[in-house]
Amino acid sequence: MTTQRADELRTNLAAVHDRIARAAADAGRSAEEVSLVVVTKFFPASDVRLLAGLGVTDVGENRHQEAEAKASECADLGLRWHFIGGLQSNKAAAVARYADVVESVDRAALVPRLARGAADAGRVVDVLLQVSLDPPGRDHRAGADPATLASLADEVARTPELRLRGLMAVAPLDDDPALAFARLAGIRADFLSRHPDATVLSAGMSGDLEAAITVGATHVRIGSAVLGTRPAVQ
Ligand SMILES: *Cc1c(COP(=O)(O)O)cnc(C)c1O
Repeated sequence: MTTQRADELRTNLAAVHDRIARAAADAGRSAEEVSLVVVTKFFPASDVRLLAGLGVTDVGENRHQEAEAKASECADLGLRWHFIGGLQSNKAAAVARYADVVESVDRAALVPRLARGAADAGRVVDVLLQVSLDPPGRDHRAGADPATLASLADEVARTPELRLRGLMAVAPLDDDPALAFARLAGIRADFLSRHPDATVLSAGMSGDLEAAITVGATHVRIGSAVLGTRPAVQ
């Protein structure tokens, strides 16, 4: 059973690496500029262990309790844990104790809480600011309004327990990802002019990784294309 699952994961990983390489080549980029974060939410720690054995170095989770349990169960694997989910203020400090990268920072209220968790754990935590790509006027599902990004970035940049590394975004479900990611590229250019060292761009999922790599994604977050279909409940 384990061997069968390992074979399945190996095949899927190879296919994803292939897509990344092709998309990078089409964009005139090197595939080495694009890191793979495998999103393991809803899948067991045993899968995380198999993935580590297949060379995966970065994993993503979106729910605090599940992430905390898996990170602790897999602490011996030396993985980098990315927290990619909506972050409740009262959970932020706890997340900063195990997450190496918090990708979903979308409001200033999270900053002191993340800093406290990082300080408690004696570590510096990498932070990405999640920016909303929803067209203006729509209710923001998740992510900072681009208009608030500059002040949020300054807030993180002046916090010694956190390291501002870049931006994260999710293409809106009902929008052409190429158009959404084109907006993201503009937002990022503006952001980089103020924070030139924060070069990470986490964008692209199983369905739209090519469009994200075209606009300069440095990290793609891939779940179902590697692990298979998740249970429908989110
Ligand atoms: C679940 C999730 C992903 C992975 O999605 P897939 O379509 O399964 O690749 C990526 N990013 C975020 C923020 C997610 O919640």
